[in-house]
Amino acid sequence: MEKLVIIGSGCAGMGAAIYAARGGLSPLVIEGTQPGGQITTTSMVENFPGFADGIDGFGLVWSMRSQAEKFGARIVNAVVEDVDFSGSAKKIFCSGGQVFEAEKVVIATGASSKMIGAKNEMELFGGKGVSTCATCDGAFYRGKDVVIVGGGDSACEEAVFLTKFASSVKLIHRRDELRASKIMAGRIMQNEKITPVWNSVVKEILIGSDGKCAGVKVENVKDGSVSEIPCSGVFVAIGHKPNTNVFSGKVDMDEEGYIKPKSGTFVCTNVENVFVAGDCSDKRYRQAITAAALGAMAGIEATR
Ligand code: NAP
Repeated sequence: MEKLVIIGSGCAGMGAAIYAARGGLSPLVIEGTQPGGQITTTSMVENFPGFADGIDGFGLVWSMRSQAEKFGARIVNAVVEDVDFSGSAKKIFCSGGQVFEAEKVVIATGASSKMIGAKNEMELFGGKGVSTCATCDGAFYRGKDVVIVGGGDSACEEAVFLTKFASSVKLIHRRDELRASKIMAGRIMQNEKITPVWNSVVKEILIGSDGKCAGVKVENVKDGSVSEIPCSGVFVAIGHKPNTNVFSGKVDMDEEGYIKPKSGTFVCTNVENVFVAGDCSDKRYRQAITAAALGAMAGIEATR
């Protein structure tokens, strides 16, 4: 039986792996469908402490991975399909019929951004003009025109953040009223650089001759009219979903599927010896550094 299995290989999983490996647990990391996690889709990470010149997302998490392996973590390519946390031996059932048993488990499966489903969205995602993280990628749009899609707090917060760099930000929302809190909505309406585009959905992202985003084709849902908005970047901020389906009914979650740490803890679930770290439990901060830090906490708890 394994001493510790870590499910997920993003910043949270690797933070847990480094600490648990150094704590002598020789953790087994199940890397999941996206080895390295969400950060691998970010071209340049400029806000991770310690990298003054920035580092590409893939390089950052792969360096964490080498660090974990150096101390004895083992990484397997598998996808978890089911778990049984009812006994003292935690069972983890993976694709291909592999079953792992462990004394302790860290769940670090992350979250996925919801996407709009517009034409060319995925082709231009990650470095060619479509991003789901203004905090990560906003600075690449200095002096450029961008659009942001969504009407919640995230879209509003990110729109305001983008005005630090972009010359103009068009906020495209499918209704004529923001879902965001009053205070956030107020900031949007008062910001001269932000123009709301109401009752509109993005149907297509236009590709320029350089192979990057050149604009968006937008449909007005009230009258069906279609127009084009030229822009260099499209930020999608229509919410996230935690990657926690397989843990449904196995650990406490909130109504959106985020795993709930026990009151007064950051990383302990309601199930003894099952810990959680990163974006599958944190819907507020969602940064590489905070995920890695929560992973470290889970690794420490598992080692204790
Ligand atoms: P959210 O509140 O669920 O808002 C998502 C927005 O995207 C909504 O305006 C929604 O439109 C729109 N949307 C959803 N699916 C869409 C689609 N397929 N096409 C076009 N638009 C779509 O998500 P969030 O903004 O990420 O916020 C999540 C939670 O975190 C919220 O509780 C929020 O308050 C919180 N949060 C707080 C802060 C803060 O306090 N500083 C910052 C960020 C987030 P409709 O309005 O028409 O449904």
